[in-house]
Amino acid sequence: MQHGGVTVWFTGLSGAGKTTITQAVAAQLVAQGCRVEILDGDIVRENLTKGLGFSKADRDENIRRIGFVSQLLSRNGVIVLVSAISPYRDVREAVRQKIGSFVEVFVNAPLATCEERDVKGLYKKARSGEIKQFTGISDPYEPPLNPEVECRTDLETLDESVGKVFAALEELGYLPKASQAVAI
Ligand code: ADP
Repeated sequence: MQHGGVTVWFTGLSGAGKTTITQAVAAQLVAQGCRVEILDGDIVRENLTKGLGFSKADRDENIRRIGFVSQLLSRNGVIVLVSAISPYRDVREAVRQKIGSFVEVFVNAPLATCEERDVKGLYKKARSGEIKQFTGISDPYEPPLNPEVECRTDLETLDESVGKVFAALEELGYLPKASQAVAI
């Protein structure tokens, strides 16, 4: 499928659904023949940004490095899906300005829902104090003010969330409209 390079940036609390939606979007894009790369925060922190901590300075550095790689890939025609908590608005905006072709997806579920899901058991550890500087509990999360997409994962199905991301990519001209896609 013909498509433009773009960075699709999924931000939200731990357990909000970033990884789940990213993987579903990636699978659908790959099935349609798109060139896709996923930069997942957890995996990036084991490699590209290994050794960085969770202070604002380190979190910002983590995001800047992810943004740099995203820029290289997306300017070469890849659809880059970034899944990272990325709690600070200013560095998300800086990365957006630098990359240009940037779509922000706010993966939004209330803290109570994320905590109830506790996919990785981290909220329990954050509440007990075993993990410090945990976003939403003992560290800030600044929601996007004008995201291109908002997925309310406590209120909508995964398919609905995925559909919103595709609709935005079509609307913004990174993917052909669904009707055209069939014809291609
Ligand atoms: P994150 O990557 O943001 O930390 P995960 O994707 O690992 O979050 O976990 C989100 C959890 O929420 C998963 O267990 C997923 O099955 C569940 N979930 C329920 N509804 C949705 C939805 N609409 N979109 C995405 N995830 C959902």
